[in-house]
Amino acid sequence: MRHSITRSEELFKEAQQVIPGGVNSPVRAFKAVGGTPRFIARAQGAYLWDADGNQLLDYIGSWGPMILGHNHPAVVAAIQQALSEGLSYGAPTEREIRLAQRVREAYPSADLVRFVSSGTEATMSALRLARGYTGRDRIVKFRGNYHGHADSLLVQAGSGLLTGGTPSSAGVPQAFAELTLVADYNEPQALEDLFQRYGEEIAAVIFEPVVGNAGVLIPTPTFLEALHHLTRRYGALLIADEVMTGFRLAKGGAVELFGLKPDLICWGKILGGGLPVGAYGGRAEIMQQVAPLGPVYQAGTLSGNPLSMAAGLATLETLFQDPPYERLEAYGAALEQGLQTLFAEAGLPVAINRVGSMITVFFREGPVQTYTEAVASDTERFKAFFHGLLQRGVYWPPSQFEAAFFSTAHGPEELDKTLEAVAQALKEPAA
Ligand code: PLP
Repeated sequence: MRHSITRSEELFKEAQQVIPGGVNSPVRAFKAVGGTPRFIARAQGAYLWDADGNQLLDYIGSWGPMILGHNHPAVVAAIQQALSEGLSYGAPTEREIRLAQRVREAYPSADLVRFVSSGTEATMSALRLARGYTGRDRIVKFRGNYHGHADSLLVQAGSGLLTGGTPSSAGVPQAFAELTLVADYNEPQALEDLFQRYGEEIAAVIFEPVVGNAGVLIPTPTFLEALHHLTRRYGALLIADEVMTGFRLAKGGAVELFGLKPDLICWGKILGGGLPVGAYGGRAEIMQQVAPLGPVYQAGTLSGNPLSMAAGLATLETLFQDPPYERLEAYGAALEQGLQTLFAEAGLPVAINRVGSMITVFFREGPVQTYTEAVASDTERFKAFFHGLLQRGVYWPPSQFEAAFFSTAHGPEELDKTLEAVAQALKEPAA
């Protein structure tokens, strides 16, 4: 029953000759779990097929965008239509207006929306805007929250709680990192301490309203309260990074789900329906600072490109016409319950965090609310779980600290398949 992966192995060797680590984004290399990454040949609905023809039930969904499943007919048709009209003009098009209108329909607080080409660009641009608008230089981010790979955001906590951060990647100047203060998610007191010390210098606080990038962490009401209250009190902007959660947790994402009132919002992933897109938006008074209206510069050759706009528009229209959020919640609840039962039967302590169609099984006793609690998980057990599932045709994210996603293409058959694979994997983990 072991999958043959000869072709993936050959391709991985070949890839490493021409691409650093053989991949174009690090997590794809399976470093956290070991083994050979599957090279994917095609996808349809809830499934991927690798280069050896193995069918995989997909719980990654391209790391978030594929909420409608792969190759949804409405999205494919919209891209084909756009394709027949030319690829990119470097001039404004009607689809950009229609997509911005759709975003505003879901997020009424975003008066103006600017499209870029990735989530990284969205957060990077939102931070520049916050700095331009407030005239302040420092920003606050949270440990274990990921906002893309801009210099200011690849920063970890410094030596003491109340100091600037240090680079978490080579190549990020210390001078940049010092302007990024790193606080702990779900720990309001630490945030308050930072504001007491640096409040007048802080341009913005950026956060994942549900964390996906440390595994799923769910914000506590007191933490959300502190974010709003402290940013208001000290005149800093609050930036909700909805790149992962936007249009996934509800039509209006986590902002709608939790009734948040951020000053700026960042989107990506689902907004591009599987093609490269990011966006940021907020109140007119702030967004009017962006060029060409204002002094904050930001531009892009392929920004708002017709194919991405068409894919995003078809995705949002499909989601809005027949909102799938209750169905996704029902699938998620059944998956979570099934996993709880199987792990309990196996006598293996886990903490399952889930919001809608984002889920993480932490291999440790719960609750897991903070980054410190998340990283204390048993990653060896996670590895065995991951490979046990993969061998049985279920493609879970290859890291304990990544959220799993499912889509509207996941139904009762996929649920059964998943739970059956988990049951078997727990009895007889892969070697
Ligand atoms: N923000 C969040 C919350 C993300 O999860 C990601 C990517 O995973 C990003 C920003 C960066 O987006 P991109 O990979 O499109 O640059």
